[in-house]
Amino acid sequence: MKPLNQLIRQNILSLKPYSSARDEYTGGEAIFLDANENPFNSPYNRYPDPYQRELKEKIARIKGIAAEYLFLGNGSDEAIDIAFRAFCEPGKDNVVAIDPTYGMYLVAADINNIETRKVKLTDDFDLDTDGLLQACDQNTKLLFICSPNNPTGNSFKKEDIVKIIEGFQGIVVLDEAYIDFVPEKSFVHELTRYPNVIILQTFSKAWGMAGIRLGMAFASPEIIQIFNKIKYPYNVNVLTQKKALELLQTEQDMSDWVKVILSEKSKMKERLDGYSFVQKIYPSDANYLLVKTDNAKGIYNYLVNEGVVIRDRSTVTLCEGCLRITIGSEQENQCLYQGLDKYMADN
Ligand SMILES: *Cc1c(COP(=O)(O)O)cnc(C)c1O
Repeated sequence: MKPLNQLIRQNILSLKPYSSARDEYTGGEAIFLDANENPFNSPYNRYPDPYQRELKEKIARIKGIAAEYLFLGNGSDEAIDIAFRAFCEPGKDNVVAIDPTYGMYLVAADINNIETRKVKLTDDFDLDTDGLLQACDQNTKLLFICSPNNPTGNSFKKEDIVKIIEGFQGIVVLDEAYIDFVPEKSFVHELTRYPNVIILQTFSKAWGMAGIRLGMAFASPEIIQIFNKIKYPYNVNVLTQKKALELLQTEQDMSDWVKVILSEKSKMKERLDGYSFVQKIYPSDANYLLVKTDNAKGIYNYLVNEGVVIRDRSTVTLCEGCLRITIGSEQENQCLYQGLDKYMADN
C-alpha cells in the first residue's frame, strides 16, 4: 500500500474540521450554556455526542475490536460517500468495482465526479482477481468488493480477497452488509494486518434497524480520524443512538431472527425449485435468493398486482432473467408462493 498521506486528498489532509460545542467540552454532567440549545424538552433539546462514544463502546465490545477502529454513520451509505471525499480527487482519480454489485458505489462515484472501472465477475460470480488488479492505475484510490455480494448472494474466497488487498496500492473497501447471515468470520479481525482495508457493516439487515439509519465502517484509527474530520458534526442523531443502544441489549433477538430467516431461505429454495419457470437458484449466503427465470419482468409485474413486491434484476450484468427475492417472515413468504402458484395457473 502507498503511504496514507499519498492516498488522502491534499485538501482533506490539511483540513481543519469544524469544532462544535460538544467537541470542545467533553467532560460529564454540567450546566450546558455553550451550544445555544433550548433548556426545555429534554433529552431531545441536546445535540448528540458527535463521536457516539457510548454506542461505539457497546458495538466495539460486540464486534471484539477497539472503538478507535470504528466509524458510525447515517447508514453505511454515508461511509461510502465519505470514502470518496477522503481519497478521490474529482475529475482525476478513479475507483475499481466488481460488476454486478451494490449500486451505491457507482452513484456515490458519479456524485463525486469519479470514474468507476467495472470488472465483471466470472460466470460463476467469482472474483476476477487479475482483472481487478489490472484495471488499477496510479490514480485508482479505492477498490470495492462486496461479500456476500449483492445481488448475486455469494461470498468470495478469503484467499482471493487477500490477494487483492495485498496486490493493490490503494484502499480496498470490503462491504460486509450481509456478514451476519454467514458462519464465516468477518474481516474486521484482520484489520491490524491490513491497514489498507475499510470494512463496511450495517444495522439495516440482520439487526432489523434499517429505519434508524445506522452504518459502521471499520478501519485503522488513522483512517477513522480522517472520516471524523469530514463527516457532519452530528451525523448520528439522538434518537438513533438511543434506539441502537436499546436494541443492542437484546443481541439474542438478532441471532434468533437470523436462524428463522435462514430456515425460511431453505424452505423458499425448495419451494421455488418446483416452479417450471425457475431455471436456476443461485447459492446464497445472504437473506435473499437470486433466481433465474424465463420471464423476469412478467413475473415481477404479476406479483406486484398480487401485492407482493420483489426486485427485478434482469437488466443487471450477468443477471439476465433474474429476480432477487428477500426472505420474509413465514407468512410473507406464503403470500409469495400463493402469488407464484397463481402465476403458474395463469401462464
Ligand atoms: C443494504 C446494503 C447496505 C446497507 O446500507 P445502509 O445505508 O447501511 O442501509 C450496504 N451495502 C450493501 C451491499 C447492501 O446491500
